[in-house]
Amino acid sequence: MGVEYLRISLTDRCNLNCVYCTPLEKHGYLPHEELLRHEEIARAAAAFVRGGVTKIRLTGGEPLIRKDVVELVRMLKAIPGLKELALTTNGIRLAELAKDLRAAGLDRVNISLDTLKEKTFKEITGFPGLDKVLAGIDASLKAGFSQVKLNVVIMRSINDAEVEDFARLSIERPLAVRFIELFPANDRATKLFNAHFPTAEAKKRIEAALGPLEQVQAGHSDGPARVYKLRGAKGQIGFISGRSDYFCLSCNRVRMDCTGKVYPCLFSPATHNLRDLLRGGAGDAALADYIKKIFLVKSNYRKDSPTAGHIEMSSLGG
Ligand code: SAM
Repeated sequence: MGVEYLRISLTDRCNLNCVYCTPLEKHGYLPHEELLRHEEIARAAAAFVRGGVTKIRLTGGEPLIRKDVVELVRMLKAIPGLKELALTTNGIRLAELAKDLRAAGLDRVNISLDTLKEKTFKEITGFPGLDKVLAGIDASLKAGFSQVKLNVVIMRSINDAEVEDFARLSIERPLAVRFIELFPANDRATKLFNAHFPTAEAKKRIEAALGPLEQVQAGHSDGPARVYKLRGAKGQIGFISGRSDYFCLSCNRVRMDCTGKVYPCLFSPATHNLRDLLRGGAGDAALADYIKKIFLVKSNYRKDSPTAGHIEMSSLGG
């Protein structure tokens, strides 16, 4: 399988501090000059697209706190050959930006939201703001994106009582609600080991409360999710089971962090640095060669079994 999907982290900064992500205080944010500039991101992205990538997702940190993010979306959408531009956000700034992002060419948006209760929102994210995220969901549905997904990390004794409420959201609105198993990606998430809530249990709860889940064919934008529908629902329900499923063999993605480091696999070391090439005056042919090498490393890496290591979702964006 060729590499078709590039995830770009736009910043290591975030306006939330989720319990399973790298703590803000540990961070010591990167100095501004280390981050790729808009033009550098667009040039790297265009080189990936010439190498075969057709879909790009912007993530973070929180991508919507990047300055002039709408302009960056416009630049990326103009890359010839790019079929789809998507974004994953915590939704805090979405109500103000959704319309402009759509107008600039953003095709799809994933909103991360783990609770529908303000008190739990503050416990999980460290900040108030549920009302802003809910307004962001409304604004996204109105803005006309081809799809709006909700990403929900389910954790036992923290938000698992809300599984049915989240599933219910897919009935009335054309939302794709996706339940994600907590992944022991870093020290903080590893400490939440007992909060692991398996997909099978979430499914059972949903079916007991809301009726049978009918499996539907996963679309090209569903990645490793298994997708279902409740009877008569406008939206869908998906499950991403990083802990109980193995999906390395179907992985077609690479990740670039905000400094231009490229990770062929979420668990591989970043052995590739596009920033040095971009700032060293490399031509398009040199970039293309480099990207070909990265893709080759990925195809070899994928043959190994997955070995969970330490990754920082806050800078790589999941
Ligand atoms: N700030 C943006 C957001 O909140 O969507 C983008 C970055 S955030 C790191 C991307 C996604 O990774 C979020 O949906 C978050 O819930 C998920 N995530 C972070 N750490 C995780 C973990 N340990 N296990 C599972 N999902 C995780």
